[in-house]
Amino acid sequence: MAYPQITFIHTTITPNTLLGQRRQAASANTLQYQLDVLKKTGRYDAFKLEWHPIYDRTPEVWPIPDHLFWDSDVAKWIEGACYFLQQQAMPEISQAVDELVSMIRSAQQSDGYLNIHYTVVEPGKRFTNLKDMHELYNCGHLIEAALAHKALYGNDQLLSTICSYVDLLCNTFGPGPGQTHGYPGHPEIELALLRLYEQTQVERYLSLARYFITERGNLTGCDGRHYFDVEAERRGADPNMKPAFYPEPRSLWYHQAHASIAEQQTIEGHSVRAMYLLTSVADLFRLEEGHSDLEAATYRLWNNMVNQKMYSTGGIGAIKQWEGFGLDYFLPQGTAEGGCYSETCAAIGVMMLAQRLLQTDLDGRFTDIMELCLYNAVLTAMSIDGKKFTYVNQLASSVKDLSERDDWFTVACCPPNMLRLLGTIGGYIWSFDTDSDNRTAQIDVHLYVGAKLVFDCGQSQVILEQETNWPLSGDVRFKLHSETIDVAIRLRIPGWAKSWKITPQLPGADLNKGYVTITSHWLKQNPDFTLSVAFEPRILFSHPLSNTNTVTIARGPVVYCVEDIDNDWVQDHFASVLLSPACEIAEKHIQGSDMGDSYVALTVTKGASLLDASAREATPFLSEDGLMAGKALQDLTFVPYYFRANRGGRGQMRVGLKKAT
Ligand SMILES: [Zn+2]
Repeated sequence: MAYPQITFIHTTITPNTLLGQRRQAASANTLQYQLDVLKKTGRYDAFKLEWHPIYDRTPEVWPIPDHLFWDSDVAKWIEGACYFLQQQAMPEISQAVDELVSMIRSAQQSDGYLNIHYTVVEPGKRFTNLKDMHELYNCGHLIEAALAHKALYGNDQLLSTICSYVDLLCNTFGPGPGQTHGYPGHPEIELALLRLYEQTQVERYLSLARYFITERGNLTGCDGRHYFDVEAERRGADPNMKPAFYPEPRSLWYHQAHASIAEQQTIEGHSVRAMYLLTSVADLFRLEEGHSDLEAATYRLWNNMVNQKMYSTGGIGAIKQWEGFGLDYFLPQGTAEGGCYSETCAAIGVMMLAQRLLQTDLDGRFTDIMELCLYNAVLTAMSIDGKKFTYVNQLASSVKDLSERDDWFTVACCPPNMLRLLGTIGGYIWSFDTDSDNRTAQIDVHLYVGAKLVFDCGQSQVILEQETNWPLSGDVRFKLHSETIDVAIRLRIPGWAKSWKITPQLPGADLNKGYVTITSHWLKQNPDFTLSVAFEPRILFSHPLSNTNTVTIARGPVVYCVEDIDNDWVQDHFASVLLSPACEIAEKHIQGSDMGDSYVALTVTKGASLLDASAREATPFLSEDGLMAGKALQDLTFVPYYFRANRGGRGQMRVGLKKAT
């Protein structure tokens, strides 16, 4: 299995590239900054199992206590820290990892149980609300932390502790007569269990993951009824008390538990849950035979998500209330238009799922989405200095929701998820494999990033280097070093690329599902070669079935936005700016801005206009057209969406602009 969490150590990312700089910010600032926040907020010491004043607080979002995710906040920080420590020594960070691990170990109960809330705040009530209380979700993150810890330090200090807890879960949950026929409301433990199985080869971990996945949505799984109904009744829950985030009472689809996964026709509910769940499903059908129905469902749900429910940035989740999917083609850009959530974790989840699917079906349609998410919905969520974050990534600001970042969040899932992703991003760039005789190797290049891949093939070493400043430009120089091994390469050609070429010329360069094959024979003659993909601004139109009627500018994999700092006349968050699809766009390469980033700014010199003020006074339905012709704007400057909210300003920003007729 090629998990990026394992393979990333083979890749070194060039420091002065966009991803290199973000990783540098993460290791230099984010790790320490998040450690300080963990300490300041009480999370750091929470595994000491002492009372904290926050435990008395009325929850911000009833019925979820504000501290409920603390286990996972700590676990994700440990996991992210261990990834960065693999490639860089940081004594203070390492010492904090050690201390946290010993606190986690000391928090374990005699039967293996390990959870802050149900040990300190509600002892005796463990496993009574799997649907809402994130108990198993927290365990999933502890498993992932333990795996990262083991990979770094080579010892079982954390892993053995977590395995004892998982053993308790294996006894507690399952189809047996004395077992609980339940599964978590928020998936995560499933993908973690499958990773744990891959590492340990302990069959019961695979069995428990399989059980959680295949039992989910069973309408008659518990005494002839849905497990979540039985569980609620058992704990005496008031059926009229609806958690604030539920779309409706029961809301089984919010948890992707309204039908078995194999039977689900459309992607529904909370978007992070959906992505973590489908990632585990993709792992399961890759791991073992007999899940063709799950495989078909995963592709079906992926298609529904990408074709009907995804923003131009790769963001998912139009609905704020349940942090998830809305109706097909319902993709408002911001609060003032009726929605847009696009949580950072959800976009990271799309990348995880795409990476898994690529391993069973090497198809550029997955890679295109993975890259779209990375350079837009994901990277936009962290400031250049790595100290501020977004949780929600709207495509248009409004008076209520400015385009700005926060230091931290009560529910702090997103910032440490950025750490984990940036720590393992090298594992997403390419995948590689060797044959059993160690004579040949295959490298599939998914993302273009200045980076170096090194792996052993028997006694020999294979090295592949990429030299590029992608996503600023589309030229990538490859250098392959392999003395004895026959190496073949498949290069992804982005679906949006209008033209591309390989130099020296590659005879018979055919595309197969978005990848071009380069044979080992050709590579022996041409170990240095270049891929050039044309980068030019292009217009994206909104789907005719959506109500947005916007045009969006993209260049290469990067989606652009307008901000008030470049267009200081704006007063209404660009709501009344009109853009013609036939506009003229000039590029400006900004080298080493004050912030340290180099980027390509775009300026529309002809084709942008401002809606006439009289249109504001008009009724919504007019007897004649004509209001859409506005006053021409001299210049309208765009910057990459990932670059937004880094330079001050008034927080006014927009991605898709009204299409001028
Ligand atoms: Zn999140």
